[in-house]
Amino acid sequence: MNEMIRYRDTCRGCKSKRLYEFLDLGNMPMAGGFLSEKDIKKEIKVPLRVNFCQDCGLVQILDIPNPNFLFSNYCYVSSVIGGLSEHFRRYSFFLKEKYLKKTKKILEFGCNDGVLLQYFKEDKSIDAFGIDVSENVTKIARERGFDVMTGFFNKENAKKLLEKKGKVDVVTGSNVFAHADDIHEIIDAAKIILDDNGVFIVEVHYLKDLMDTFQYDSIYHEHLCYYSVFSLNNIFDIAGMKIIDAIHLEMHGGGIRVVACKKDSKKEIMPSVEKFINEEKMAGLDSKKRFSDFADKCKEHRKALICILDSVKKEEKSIVGYGAPGRGTILLNYCGIGKDYLDYIVDASPLRSGKIMPGVHIPIIPQKDFMKNKPDYSLIIAWTYKDEIIKREQEFLNGGGKFILPFPKIEIIPQDAPL
Ligand SMILES: [Zn+2]
Repeated sequence: MNEMIRYRDTCRGCKSKRLYEFLDLGNMPMAGGFLSEKDIKKEIKVPLRVNFCQDCGLVQILDIPNPNFLFSNYCYVSSVIGGLSEHFRRYSFFLKEKYLKKTKKILEFGCNDGVLLQYFKEDKSIDAFGIDVSENVTKIARERGFDVMTGFFNKENAKKLLEKKGKVDVVTGSNVFAHADDIHEIIDAAKIILDDNGVFIVEVHYLKDLMDTFQYDSIYHEHLCYYSVFSLNNIFDIAGMKIIDAIHLEMHGGGIRVVACKKDSKKEIMPSVEKFINEEKMAGLDSKKRFSDFADKCKEHRKALICILDSVKKEEKSIVGYGAPGRGTILLNYCGIGKDYLDYIVDASPLRSGKIMPGVHIPIIPQKDFMKNKPDYSLIIAWTYKDEIIKREQEFLNGGGKFILPFPKIEIIPQDAPL
């Protein structure tokens, strides 16, 4: 199984060796590796350790599973999730209004099933196309009528796209820039196809939000990097680019949209960039101490959550999981929440129900069967969708059911209900 994992000893942002390992989440299966019962024997576990680069500030995982293995049959289809579609609809307006002005072409890497591309379909003046490594989702995207290439976004494929399409105003990637081991390859690929005044925009989970709300469940092998504007600014600088704008996003428990362009572009740097970097420094995101404190809090969180689940089980009440996102794999495995705690997990995605949760092997059943066995408690594993879930499951609450919310802080819903 050795070819499945690679280890690196240098920072992928600046090549420094001054890396500080602050959190060890243990041997972890792939967060998105939902299994069939018959495939349990094929499951691999890889150390999940988190490092902080003391030179550029990049937080990163250095244990790297083979990406072909990770993403070739990825189970995450963006369009299934309602909240995401709305985000991308708004993002398409932002792009049209601000950046799709000259060549009127946009390339999205990691385009999934076309969740952003769909919003350019009606506008014949804009040529929107994508690239994604996952064979099954690009097949879905092409069936939906999108112009999508299957492959990694690297210099070689950027040259192919340049030949076919010419220069573009925008290269963008949402929730994908954190997946790559070689981030400079992606930036260089973007530079190949970008017009001189074009912009490279990434949307990533925001390190500051992750740290502030102790979201260790969003740390997994598929996400090799955890960005701040501070670290991205250092990385883009090395790559001959500059960040000109940064915007906070509410999606996925807190994200940032960062806009960069070539250093010699005349585009001006907006005050937002300095504001972000100052706030991050104030929060200690450029120093070791903040990260060792975070690791202590993660251990405390695990202890507190298990304590609640133990007291529910002592009462002989049943608990089921709600939602099977990739981050659920981390929460359940790190805390040791297995079949002895959760009878089953419900999930809306047809790609996940019928499978079992990585590592802990809890069965995943369709969301519509949530109430089938009249559970007493439900742990909201997909806690970033808690508002939708609570709204949808009023019948459960009205019948005396209680939700356990693990993040951003552990809560029982309804709040005044005794355990
Ligand atoms: Zn570094």
